[in-house]
Amino acid sequence: MPGDVINVSYNFSYYDAGSSIDTEVIAIANTNKAISIHQAAELANRYIYITNNCYMEEIDLHKGASSTYYSDADIYLKNADLYDWDVIEHEYGHYVADTFDLKMIGVGGSHTLYEDLSVTYGKSHGIGMAWSEGFATFFAINLQRVMNASSMNIPNVGDVYYNDTDDYICKVNIETVTDEITPSNIISKCESNEITVASILFDCADIISPFGDDMVYINNALLWSVLTTNECQTLSECVNSLYNDATVTWDNKAHLGEVLKSLGLSASNLTITYMNPLPPSLSWTNPSGIHTIQVCIYTINGTQLYQSAFLSNGTTSLNLSTNDWSSIVSSGQYIFYVIIKIWNYGIPTSTDPVTGPYYSTFYLGYPI
Ligand SMILES: [Zn+2]
Repeated sequence: MPGDVINVSYNFSYYDAGSSIDTEVIAIANTNKAISIHQAAELANRYIYITNNCYMEEIDLHKGASSTYYSDADIYLKNADLYDWDVIEHEYGHYVADTFDLKMIGVGGSHTLYEDLSVTYGKSHGIGMAWSEGFATFFAINLQRVMNASSMNIPNVGDVYYNDTDDYICKVNIETVTDEITPSNIISKCESNEITVASILFDCADIISPFGDDMVYINNALLWSVLTTNECQTLSECVNSLYNDATVTWDNKAHLGEVLKSLGLSASNLTITYMNPLPPSLSWTNPSGIHTIQVCIYTINGTQLYQSAFLSNGTTSLNLSTNDWSSIVSSGQYIFYVIIKIWNYGIPTSTDPVTGPYYSTFYLGYPI
């Protein structure tokens, strides 16, 4: 086992709730690096306690390792990462995922924050790896939010950035999905990208984003319950577990569809053409890839009024029939949610798993 070992368990704590760690003191001595990583992991452990009503088993943090990673209930940290709480708690997030079956077995490997991992590893591995890494990043950023960690005044702790400050420098805004230090590192927005996964999870968890497209809010306890009950191991499983959960409100499901649309995972640019006479026709833009598509129409309270047949790949429009339209308007509603569901296939003729449906939500009224 490389490096000095710091043991973290619930009954061993330097953390005095409400206090802050003096960053100048932290920077003086190696001992304080030990305190830094201990406190980072301790905070993560306390987050699990308030979320899942139990503490994690104790874990050893190895500082001074040759690289930073999680393996088999141990965390290894390079010296350059010992003040990077986002990185430390990302690794702790892998430990949590391992404990609660929130990651596929065997989806390790080298990766960047920016890539479409399905291109690098194939879809099956790529979606599992993107979830594993994205969940870990979400875990770090979100636990700091829930635990009000910004009040401790530790640099880069408690904000919406994934910060790595020393060996590998990045400042990724998980709300906007951009690296603000190196914006030319374009993040691939897709289900096989770890920042996309982290961003969607964070949008679900944070109360309301200042960025306009994020009205979804699923409280910490409910989100945790859906993820762990369903043992989500891909973004697709997560989205569909939320969509199928009766406890998640219809409003939140609809708003999640808006987030998926804004990140390019589902259809966009819906236009509705009101023929005279009605019924109207719909057209939209699909994301890239091979899909099966379905159009559904709901009341604003979530009652389904219409569901199309499955539409073949490349379909970008639908003419509602007179009968369809009569049955929709017989609901007495004048405003609707149109939801376009997209199932993603991998490369044709391959054995890639089908993912989805990822859905878009559009809020529509029609003239009367
Ligand atoms: Zn990781």
